[in-house]
Amino acid sequence: MRVFELERPGSVRVGVRAMPSAGALLRVETTGVCGTDHHVFGGRIAVPTPCLLGHEVIGRIERLARADGIVAEAGVGVGDRVLVAPSVPCGDCEGCRGLGRCLDRPVYGLTMAGDGLTGGFSPLLALVPGTRVYRVPERVPAKRAVFAEPMACVLSALRKAYDAHYAPPATDALVMGFGPIGVCAAVAIAASGGDVTVLEHDPERRSLALELGFAALAGAAQTPPRGYPLVIDSAGTPAAFASGLELLAWGGTLVEMGNYADLGAVAIKPSDICLRDLRVIGSGETLYDDFPPAIRLVAETPVALEAAITDVHRFDAMTEPSLLFTARARGKALIAFAS
Ligand SMILES: [Zn+2]
Ligand SMILES: [Zn+2]
Repeated sequence: MRVFELERPGSVRVGVRAMPSAGALLRVETTGVCGTDHHVFGGRIAVPTPCLLGHEVIGRIERLARADGIVAEAGVGVGDRVLVAPSVPCGDCEGCRGLGRCLDRPVYGLTMAGDGLTGGFSPLLALVPGTRVYRVPERVPAKRAVFAEPMACVLSALRKAYDAHYAPPATDALVMGFGPIGVCAAVAIAASGGDVTVLEHDPERRSLALELGFAALAGAAQTPPRGYPLVIDSAGTPAAFASGLELLAWGGTLVEMGNYADLGAVAIKPSDICLRDLRVIGSGETLYDDFPPAIRLVAETPVALEAAITDVHRFDAMTEPSLLFTARARGKALIAFAS
């Protein structure tokens, strides 16, 4: 099986891996290229190498038996189109045994070591026991479906911020940074009736925000003096976190989703948080319950999400896979596999 594997930071090569003779298998339709993959390629997140990247995977179940231990809604079987939840509970850690929440979850395309089909940069993905898969309706185009995984990350973050609700109805928000997480955040806020303002320094990404129907600012100087009740930081720099705090209204909430890797430190004044009743919510873990609503949201949003896929790479035609990472896409990039 021809695959793309990360040889070491800075180099993804064409590799060959054996097809497993047993266990559940997914025929990959499309895999999104995530900011986390860029961090791994850039050496900012360490993974065991060689590594098959790719954790945003949509595909069809190719092989499945009850004994494979795959968790899915009733009736899901061979031929069904599904999203694969990237992380799998280990079943063995303190969290799995007592908290109902794994503290050490292996993740497809990131931390799953070994020479198997462990990531979505491969036409087939070997599904390990405990994997959760979620049905993706046939009518949802791949260019939308691929947003479901990052959308679930955003919905989890909002649910952590507002308990059972993703965001209180009509909460206006500032979305800092309009990469794929920013796109998902804007769509989620718009779905709950809030006005979205995007703050993005890159003119191309700013024009993408306008094209998708969101207000877009080039710099913080243009923001209103009283600030925003909700700021979602998806800008990808430590400095954005500090300016996000400043841009909050009294009693506001900052949801931090821009520093998925250790990108360094930034100075903040704790008194700002204390005296202005601010809340800061982090979200590294995506909760499984958020995948089905994320799939529905990317399927149904009136926002033209497809337009945010700006780079489609055909797996079969690609001979230099490092090129996936050497240019920054205006929107999101995906790998398309032959069906
Ligand atoms: Zn991701
Ligand atoms: Zn565990």
